[in-house]
Parts: sequence; C-alpha cells; structure tokens
Amino acid sequence: MSITPDEIFQDHAGKTFQRLKAVKRPEDHFAILKERCLESEQHVESLKQTEGISLACRSGCNFCCYLKVDVRAVEVFRIVEYLGRKLAHNIPAIKERCAAHFRAILPLSFIEHLGSNHLCPLNVDGNCVAYEVRPFACRNSHAQTVKTCEYSYDHPTDLKSPSSQHPKIAATTKAATYGVSAAYEQAGYDPHTYDLGAALHSALQNPKTFKRWRDKKTAFPVECRVKQPVEG
Ligand code: SF4
Repeated sequence: MSITPDEIFQDHAGKTFQRLKAVKRPEDHFAILKERCLESEQHVESLKQTEGISLACRSGCNFCCYLKVDVRAVEVFRIVEYLGRKLAHNIPAIKERCAAHFRAILPLSFIEHLGSNHLCPLNVDGNCVAYEVRPFACRNSHAQTVKTCEYSYDHPTDLKSPSSQHPKIAATTKAATYGVSAAYEQAGYDPHTYDLGAALHSALQNPKTFKRWRDKKTAFPVECRVKQPVEG
C-alpha cells in the first residue's frame, strides 16, 4: 500500500522536529534539509516507477526559473553557505543579480508578481548555480509536458493557464515541504515565507541574518516576505 500525503507530512514533520532538538552546530540545519530533500526525491522516484509517470523536465530547460519562488529562511541560508563554499568568486555578481531582482519585484503586488516573468538571480546562462541546494519550491516544480511551461512563460498574466503537474507527485512533494516547514515553526523558528531572490539579497548583504534566525528571530525585513493576495 502506498504512503499517503498525510503520512508523508507527518513523517517529514516528525523527523525534522526530532533532528531540530539535537541541533548543535549551524550546519546541522543544512544536513536536516539535505535528508528531507533526499527522502522526498525517493518518494517521487518510487511514484514515477509504480505509476509509470514520465516527466518532461530536463537539464537546461528553465521555464520554471522565471516563476515566483517562495522559500523558508533556512533554505536561503543553505544556499548562502553553498555559495560561500563553492562559488565565493561569483558572490559579487550574484549579489548584483539579487539586488536587481529585489528592485524589480519590490513594487509588485502579489498578483503582479505571479503574472510576470522574473529570472531567478541564481540562474546563470540557463543553469542553476546552486542546483544541489535548490529549495523545495524548485524541486517540487515539474511537468509532464514542456508545452504547459512554454505557454505559462509566453502568457505570464494568464494565471489560469493549464498545468501538467502529476497530481500525486504534487501532493507528495507539497506534503514533504509543509511537513518540514511545520516542524521548524513548531520549534519556534521564523514562520514567514520569503521571496527567494529578495531574501537572498538580504542574507548576502548582511551575514548577521543567519545568527538572528538561529536565535529564533525574524530573519529578513518585511519587504522580503511573500505578499499575500488581496481579498475581494
Ligand atoms: S534556485 Fe535554481 S532551480 Fe530554483 S528558480 Fe533559482 S535558478 Fe531555478
């Protein structure tokens, strides 16, 4: 019998919460995320095999890197740590790209941001420079045909454009993401959802943000938070 999204949520939340109780060093958080990402990917692989699902996602295809990317602070710090370790020489250029991204999205409403293309500052020449540590939102993004991604890219204001995500993969990956987020929230960490490029801009500008977050304070300024849709 296959595992349900609710069981996946509980499993990820429980394991993350247990690991958080034993965190001693800052990098323990990155190990937690790595474990959760690997387990989520294993669930997806097993679904693909048992359900015969074939995805269109390929290296070099990056339509989804123009979409809005919502993250939790810990995912941003994992990327910053990776950039410092692997791409220190590129950080000034990445900072500039993040600053440009932040300037571009700052005046946008929630709907305007959703309805426009903004290339992620971590996408350089068509490739993600932090692919190994990309956030859940990017890992969860998938399509069964590239046509839906092309359509969405060509018609960004059509917010009802069809998706070709597989419902079971979408439910599984969301459950894992929400489980990890719920555990961090339950453990008292910053509960806000941030825009990836904006939060990265803040974290790269101010390394003290990581300590602030580890002290269970709000990591980034309010302008970096994902805006909520206006009701009505
Ligand atoms: S983090 Fe990487 S995979 Fe995600 S949107 Fe940015 S460039 Fe694309």
